[in-house]
Amino acid sequence: MTPSPLSLLIGFILGLLIALAAWRARALSASGAAAAALTGGLIFGLGGLPWAVLLLAFFISSSGLSRAFKRQKASVYEKFSKGSQRDWGQVLANGGLGALLAIAHAAFPSQSWPWLAFAGAMAAVNADTWATELGVLSPTPPRRITTGKIVERGASGGLTLLGTLAALAGAVLIGGLAASFSAAQQAVVFLAIVPLAGLLGSLFDSFLGATVQVIYRCPSCDKETERHPRHLCGTETAQIRGWRWLNNDWVNLACSLVGAILTLLH
Ligand SMILES: [Zn+2]
Repeated sequence: MTPSPLSLLIGFILGLLIALAAWRARALSASGAAAAALTGGLIFGLGGLPWAVLLLAFFISSSGLSRAFKRQKASVYEKFSKGSQRDWGQVLANGGLGALLAIAHAAFPSQSWPWLAFAGAMAAVNADTWATELGVLSPTPPRRITTGKIVERGASGGLTLLGTLAALAGAVLIGGLAASFSAAQQAVVFLAIVPLAGLLGSLFDSFLGATVQVIYRCPSCDKETERHPRHLCGTETAQIRGWRWLNNDWVNLACSLVGAILTLLH
């Protein structure tokens, strides 16, 4: 069934209201709010209630987690490129694939692959966000996913047990919600395959962070950072490894692609 103009209108109004609320709460920058209104509008309007629930679960839980434990996380915040206020690049990195899949769902309403791929993509970005937000609270220091060597807290490509369990929990939440909107015979896909695909997507994110993602160093603080061109202290940062174009946004997009593709390949 093609979505009616009314459901599209309701979807875009809902997307706009949530984007405005997030902008007022400083969870999104102005450009982030515009991108969220567009992607949210497409996902709500073309996907309907099941798609809306998955997107809202990701958005509400990740905004909540980024606000929780702020004091404990203050010392590592500077290592992330953009603090907790998301801009348009971050919004499209996390929701862009979902918006394209919502268009595919509207274009091929009898096909189930857009919904499966959407669940896998949302599981991966939710896993990655939960791992990032909760992993920094780990009592043990992170180890680089490629070498096993201990790295600074918050450094790209570092893994902790707590962060990995948080990733799995974030992916299970999305899979469980998706299962509640799907046929009973597909339960195994949403309760096992989607969480696994989400976890592997977030591990792939860490792998890229440890290998080819562009990483900078601030010469005056002597710290690794994703911030460029300037560190929080105002000093210009210099690239120390990775491909110049492969920033955190592309890595997050790759994470959601891996979640979607692995879910479809099951
Ligand atoms: Zn600095």
